[in-house]
Amino acid sequence: MIANPVPWPNGARCAVAFTFDMDADSILHLAHHTSADTRLAAMSMLRYGPEIAVPRLVELYKRFGMHQTFFLPAWCMERYPAAVEAILQGGHEIAHHGYLHEHPNELPSEEELYWLQRGIDVFVTMTGERPRGFRAPTYKFSRHTLTHLVNEGFVYDASLMGDDVPYLLENATGQVVELPSHYALDDWPHFMASRDFNYFMSIKAPRQAMEVYAAEFDAMWEYGGLWIAVWHPFLSGRLARCVAIAELMEYMHKKGQVWFARLDEIAAYVQQLAQAGTWTPRVDRLPYYPGPIPELGEAEPTLAR
Ligand SMILES: [Zn+2]
Repeated sequence: MIANPVPWPNGARCAVAFTFDMDADSILHLAHHTSADTRLAAMSMLRYGPEIAVPRLVELYKRFGMHQTFFLPAWCMERYPAAVEAILQGGHEIAHHGYLHEHPNELPSEEELYWLQRGIDVFVTMTGERPRGFRAPTYKFSRHTLTHLVNEGFVYDASLMGDDVPYLLENATGQVVELPSHYALDDWPHFMASRDFNYFMSIKAPRQAMEVYAAEFDAMWEYGGLWIAVWHPFLSGRLARCVAIAELMEYMHKKGQVWFARLDEIAAYVQQLAQAGTWTPRVDRLPYYPGPIPELGEAEPTLAR
């Protein structure tokens, strides 16, 4: 089912990474710049992430002896230093998730680079090192993102959805490792309900979401894939959902032969295999297109109407 499965370390059948994007209230300021400060209920829902959920998740990982990756907009690191401290003390990785959760593919290249570098400065100040990984906010990886990541020394990206196993993104500037995921492993479609974001998924029992995640895990385990959850502390870190997550972790650990790892460890392992010639990752050359396809001309296509 997977043409080129990865020889995971120690005979593991698959690799598993629970990644949490701690967006906190950055997304509210971005969506409603002039009125975010008046939307107290939405603010409180989002602040639940750094204040309540992150310490809970760090504790949960400790119970299972796991080290994982958190993606933080750098502005959230500045606003919530206690959450940063808890994550780092737990032995987890913090990776780059924009400065204020800005959308790279809606910005000119120079502006995208400005926010990326401003975020890196925060990492250096607060963690003592540059980030190794990046996830574009809302998956909005741009046609310029790869070039910026290579120039800024990033090892991996985790924004795209093009495979079941790691692959390489390449252009004339260089390469990074892509650690892909998919909407099936994102918690937004399962749990997000907020008037302030005009987004209402019907509230359902946490176990229904876990059923989707577990099915993805069983398939990855069977065929040698990479399972990356793209979750948010303010959504999946709520109490009943966290209880269900603990059960899912229990299930994975009992099934065994799973490599639980931080994304920087998975990226380093992939690079090592590629260098040793033990396993050759597939390469995606970017951008996929230099611009809009010529068949439809410059005008808005009438075909789409
Ligand atoms: Zn995000």
